Amino acid sequence: MGISRILIANRGEIALRIHRAAHEMGIETVAVHSTADADAMHVRLADQAVCIGPPAAADSYLNIANIISAAECAQCDAIHPGYGFLSENAKFAEIVEAHDIAWIGPKPEHIRTMGDKVAAKQTAGALGLPLVPGSEGAVSDYDEARKIARDIGYPVIIKAASGGGGRGMKVCQAEDQLETLMQQAGSEAKAAFGDATVYIEKYLGNPRHIEFQVFGDGKGNAIHLGERDCSLQRRHQKVLEEAPSPVITSEDRHRMGEICAQAMRDMSYRGAGTIEFLWENGEFYFIEMNTRLQVEHPVTEAITGVDLVREQIRIAEGRPLSVKQEDLEFRGHAIECRINAEDPFTFAPSPGRVNYYHAAGGLHVRVDSGLYAGYSVPPYYDSMIAKLIVYGRTREGCIMRLRRALEEMVIEGVKTNIPLHQELVRQDDVLNGDYSIKWLEEWLAKREG
Ligand code: ADP
Repeated sequence: MGISRILIANRGEIALRIHRAAHEMGIETVAVHSTADADAMHVRLADQAVCIGPPAAADSYLNIANIISAAECAQCDAIHPGYGFLSENAKFAEIVEAHDIAWIGPKPEHIRTMGDKVAAKQTAGALGLPLVPGSEGAVSDYDEARKIARDIGYPVIIKAASGGGGRGMKVCQAEDQLETLMQQAGSEAKAAFGDATVYIEKYLGNPRHIEFQVFGDGKGNAIHLGERDCSLQRRHQKVLEEAPSPVITSEDRHRMGEICAQAMRDMSYRGAGTIEFLWENGEFYFIEMNTRLQVEHPVTEAITGVDLVREQIRIAEGRPLSVKQEDLEFRGHAIECRINAEDPFTFAPSPGRVNYYHAAGGLHVRVDSGLYAGYSVPPYYDSMIAKLIVYGRTREGCIMRLRRALEEMVIEGVKTNIPLHQELVRQDDVLNGDYSIKWLEEWLAKREG
């Protein structure tokens, strides 16, 4: 089935990203927006735009009834959810499909399974992915919890089955804290996600975050597009991502990538997915799977040459994967900096009017952003306003180019974290690729001190 008009159920840079892929395929786009985003770039560039509600996301970008009405009125034959908002809402995916609109995303049952972290871990285990040692499923009994924790050894981490965005996790150092922390984790999870279910796993001391990009056609064919290293994080939020990881060998890439691709074949997975691992002492440990496009997908595009959004649209049309595993080559190195409207060192959000904007350019420099001079960054949404993606034939060349590109980026009127990135790309540990998921916070603490 050919798609002719896509409703983009998102905002900001990702809405623009989807619009661009669609137009390159000769597909029309319909933007939806809140009243706060009436002047946004994705609204201006789309073929049509429909206002779906007031600023609060719950009333607009999460308003299923209004989004479906907009799709019907504008006669869209597909919906792309981007990331965040409704992208991992299985119910929404079902409603879209029930309206005979193509859902540019995974099958609803896969979104549902992977959205429940206990079910996801069980599924991953059954598919042969290496797991973090821990409870086999949810744990509610304290005696059982004590036994599991003793078996795997302290410290352990108590996690909410419905958790997300790095929330609902408690690290437990010793048995005398276990019961209290389980109670706390359960009640916090209940308050945040409406579900008190928790599970336990080994707390890894100093891991890296390494994730594999996968794609399936929904009919049992699947490929992997290598890994991304997203270890530079603050409060579990990624700040800078790179591909390939500086610590993964070509053998490990092919071995783990193939395990991931095989798991997707076994599930008949459809569309884009990311399988996230913690990596320590050469071992991979599955933590979760995201059933959507990721913010950091461009670094994979840079080293493989594959347009991942185009691929998503093709699969939603029922077409086969456009590349075969054996034809995929991983070439060079790419790094993405997430540019946020915030104070670079206190991280306080800094919404407001952008008086002047100049994007970096030149060979192998990509800026994905809806910014323009005169644009007002609204206070209601995520603070990410641009992504700077730089490619180089070597990691060293990539970093030199990134330094140059960061010098060229000018955003005036709001504070941004560009100064943070400028310092980061000059740290020896970053230059050497020698960092874990704890590095950035430790470095920030030292810098303060
Ligand atoms: P979320 O869905 O909330 O993002 P994840 O399970 O992906 O939760 O974990 C988020 C982050 O929490 C990881 O990137 C890592 O920094 C940390 N984390 C999760 N599980 C463990 C673990 N077993 N040991 C150490 N750190 C962990």
